[in-house]
Amino acid sequence: MADPVAAASTPLAQEGKALSRAVLLRAYEQSHDAILITDRDNLIVAANGAFCQLSGYSHDELIGKDPRILASQDLAAELHANMWNSLTTEDFWEGEVWNKHKNGESYTRWLKIAVLRNADGQIENYVANFSDMEASKEFADQLAYLAYHDPLTNLPNRLAFESQLAQALRGCERDNRQLALMLIDLDNFKNINDTLGHHVGDELLQKVALRLRESVRSSDLVARIGGDEFVIVLPEIESPLTAARVANKVQHNMADSYRISDHVLYATPSIGISLFPIDGGDASTLLRNADTAMYHAKDAGRNNHQFYTARMNEAAGERLHLENELRQAISAISPSSSEFSLHFQPQVQTASGRVLGLEALLRWNNPTFGLVSPMRFIAIAEETGLIQPLGDWVIWETCRQIRQMKQHGIEGIRIAINISAQQLRHENLLLLVRGALACYDLQPEDIELEVTESTAMQNPETTLSILDQLSAMGVMLAIDDFGTGYSSLAYLKHLPIQRLKLDRSFVKDIETDANDAAICTATIALGHSLGLELVAEGVETEAQRAFLARLGCDMLQGYLYSKPMPFEETIAYLKAHRAAQP
Ligand code: C2E
Ligand code: MG
Ligand code: MG
Repeated sequence: MADPVAAASTPLAQEGKALSRAVLLRAYEQSHDAILITDRDNLIVAANGAFCQLSGYSHDELIGKDPRILASQDLAAELHANMWNSLTTEDFWEGEVWNKHKNGESYTRWLKIAVLRNADGQIENYVANFSDMEASKEFADQLAYLAYHDPLTNLPNRLAFESQLAQALRGCERDNRQLALMLIDLDNFKNINDTLGHHVGDELLQKVALRLRESVRSSDLVARIGGDEFVIVLPEIESPLTAARVANKVQHNMADSYRISDHVLYATPSIGISLFPIDGGDASTLLRNADTAMYHAKDAGRNNHQFYTARMNEAAGERLHLENELRQAISAISPSSSEFSLHFQPQVQTASGRVLGLEALLRWNNPTFGLVSPMRFIAIAEETGLIQPLGDWVIWETCRQIRQMKQHGIEGIRIAINISAQQLRHENLLLLVRGALACYDLQPEDIELEVTESTAMQNPETTLSILDQLSAMGVMLAIDDFGTGYSSLAYLKHLPIQRLKLDRSFVKDIETDANDAAICTATIALGHSLGLELVAEGVETEAQRAFLARLGCDMLQGYLYSKPMPFEETIAYLKAHRAAQP
């Protein structure tokens, strides 16, 4: 066999004298690329193992042959001319070729041919390298793009949608996640297309595609699967409400008119939603059920969304209604009127029976829903980010009312404000607190901030830094609902807190449930050992008070003393309380 390293005395081989010929030979022999070397007459002098495997011919069968025997058809004359032209002028050519295996089967490869010349510039060899079509990756990418995209809107097409949905479903199954599939049909499209013509219809579809894409996150899939049918896949939803919210956003974004060649057009969506896993475990079931739901949306008067499971519609409907009302109520807050107000609940020193503090508790009275429990609306506000403006309002309003209390001659009362996790994630909480205190001419001792145990445990680093800065300002900090999370007292030691509020659920059965009694006893003792003050929540009975007093609990709060009261009542309560003090 010809020595390919000698045959192809490439610059690499010359420079690489330090490399042994054996190494070069091995590199050539073991290369994954098929390599063929011909002499100046273009007759084969060497072929590596990868080439023999690719072509099906043995080394001996190849030697001395013209490589043309390998071609599956004669190269088109033009391509052939182009190849030789490029080889003589540039010493190089590359392109896609179709070759024939010894067994007759055709295969395609990306071929690169380099011309090797001797010192006098005479052609010595041609080295041909056949690689996988990867070399033409760009081209392959282009093909794949065309295969998977709708040329009109540039959105993924049905094929892409099906394969991506299948993949997303596998992930959901593995990680136990929920997924929502939304099928969107344009309400008016056929009419527009028929009466105004296809070019108007096409432009409308393009604009609709843009609005759909803008309605969702980049990780969500938007595809066009038919004439005026689009799908959105939300691969990671926390609850079905996320899907309802996205559907609302889509409706909202598509409500505006489109201006196309002097026409003002509307294309509202009818949306059907199916959920994995409750509405189906595979792509085709989910699509079928989303389709059924979409027809319900059409029946229900178009421009709306429907879940496949009817029950979901009611739950989501009420929830979203509440959310919308909450959003409106927040945006409508003004100094003179608001659906929100603060109630105050006294905190009593166990030993003296004196009221030393109040907790400010938010109330929402909505014209449609009436008085909504904070348990309910605060959860919604937290989920939707509305807690940010609402929480800011609570801080301002509390400070304003503290100023008013002072004007009523009430002094030495600290007011606790509940802070949610999201507020603690922003440095602007510090600015806000500082600003509100300054605005109403208050001292840091006038307020206290309560953060729940789980909040204090979330994102510990930022939380810790913000809590440290608040504490440095002189604001008292309390851990709310203590005992309901998983924090250890050891962890709490690192937080700049002064108070622990023992959760109501432990106080409730303190006399009857030995476990609860033990938890209260241990928490109070350990809290004290860390220098913390203990506040018991939800004290309703004299027996609970006596029990907590025996354990040395510092402060008590609960219906035994008072329910949370509106401002005027709080003033009256505090004045009466003061008058009764010796
Ligand atoms: P929380 O901060 O633990 O507030 C104590 C809750 O226990 C209040 O419920 C209060 O009315 C209730 N409570 C007080 N004493 C007793 C009692 O003796 N027995 C019983 N059964 N309940 C008692 P509320 O006002 O419904 O507030 C519920 C939760 O909503 C609060 O729990 C707090 O987590 C949240 N919240 C209230 N206002 C705000 C606020 O302005 N911002 C934030 N982020 N959360 C708030
Ligand atoms: Mg609280
Ligand atoms: Mg609490």
